[in-house]
Amino acid sequence: MRMDHCIAYLTYRAEWPVREELQRAMGSWVYGCDVCQSVCPLNQGRWREDEPAPWLEAVKPLLELEALARMDDETFRRRVYPLFWYIPEDNVARWRANAKRALRACGSNESRQA
Ligand code: SF4
Repeated sequence: MRMDHCIAYLTYRAEWPVREELQRAMGSWVYGCDVCQSVCPLNQGRWREDEPAPWLEAVKPLLELEALARMDDETFRRRVYPLFWYIPEDNVARWRANAKRALRACGSNESRQA
């Protein structure tokens, strides 16, 4: 594994801005792809992404790409950051930038307006 090419690293820890070719390779991920988490033997038999996550229901609309791309700092700090405390709090702008990149990767019209 190349840590400096890991999507999780590139989304929040790597020097900004991330090189264009790496941004293209990140696709529509707003945070790490976590394939490594899915295949890790220690995670087998744990929560799976297709199982209900009631603790996310209230904040789900805020995690849509369009919402993240336009999110104000206060909403991020109050509603989103408590769920993603492991990502530096001062990276609100990076959340927005990652969401906009993801929208572009999806070919969304919204990305041209965000
Ligand atoms: S599988 Fe894991 S290590 Fe590889 S890019 Fe995705 S998040 Fe990073």
